Amino acid sequence: MTWRNELSRSVTDLTRLGHATRRLQPVTRAYPLRITPHLLALMDLENPRCPVRRQVVPDTRELRPGGDRDPLGEEAFQVEKGVLCRFGDRLLALVSARCPVHCRHCNRKRYWSSPGPVAGAEEIARAVSKNRGVREVILSGGEPLLLSDRALDRRLQASRARTRVDLLRIHSRIPVTLPARITPGLVRTLKRHRPLWFVTHFNHEKELCTAARRSLRRLRDAGIPLLNQAVLLRGVNDSVAAQAALGRALANSGVKPHYLFQLDRAAGTLHFQVPMRRALDIIVRLRARHSGLVVPHLLADLPGQDGKVPITPSAVLKITDRGTLLMTPRGEKIWYRDQ
Ligand SMILES: *Cc1c(COP(=O)(O)O)cnc(C)c1O
Repeated sequence: MTWRNELSRSVTDLTRLGHATRRLQPVTRAYPLRITPHLLALMDLENPRCPVRRQVVPDTRELRPGGDRDPLGEEAFQVEKGVLCRFGDRLLALVSARCPVHCRHCNRKRYWSSPGPVAGAEEIARAVSKNRGVREVILSGGEPLLLSDRALDRRLQASRARTRVDLLRIHSRIPVTLPARITPGLVRTLKRHRPLWFVTHFNHEKELCTAARRSLRRLRDAGIPLLNQAVLLRGVNDSVAAQAALGRALANSGVKPHYLFQLDRAAGTLHFQVPMRRALDIIVRLRARHSGLVVPHLLADLPGQDGKVPITPSAVLKITDRGTLLMTPRGEKIWYRDQ
């Protein structure tokens, strides 16, 4: 089955999920359902605690009040249609308004019923030309890899409209949602645009199934470096064990766990939020016991240009010209001499 075929067979109708769906109808009216056959097969539909199921099956708690429509205040930073510039050296281009799967924790779920602005090659080229500090372009969405290989090629080419742009990046959840999309043809296209970094979005070890790992291997074999951004989600991955297993599975597939985000407080997602105290505790214990290869940076993304703030306990207890008193991950105080 080709990826387009698989996509067209995605589940958008609650009846396909079987029992207990009547209660969910008001939820899907506000936030429509969408699951690929791949993820439907991967999840345990009978088990409400399944970490894959929890990310894609609607929940009545999505209708609770609270949270913001645009939690990052992105709309104020649009420099061309669908192109955001929150940080001077990077542009983020929303090149597709669609996704193969509606992840229930999505921070852009406001766009599910009425698609937001989308950038084509012209908008990207114009944004790169006008914003002189830009050195890097990130293709995001929606799911950027729902574009055809040719459309993607044009947008990557437009991203290099000025020679000062040296880095390209793709933020994509396709290795999780529709790994069949990572075809040899797509990989050839991406390979031509190196240096290009590929940033995935795995939240749980279970998502690294055989098909997902094969898709990652194809990208890696083409010399494309792989990073992962996860979101800390209550009931999905909010434990040291879940984070360690995720990090280990990623590292074994050649993917560095890069960022772990505290939830962006988007309306309809707050039931996933993990208290900051607990988030910090998880990351501290993870770092104390596990390889640096499996430990991501915990971040909170705040509205506007202040943006991404690393959440770390302060290791610097005291600093003088002679040296610094440091707190180690195991909780010991050690003097590091400067001279
Ligand atoms: C998150 C984000 C980036 C990328 O930030 P990094 O820390 O470099 O990953 C760039 N632009 C926008 C608008 C973003 O929200």
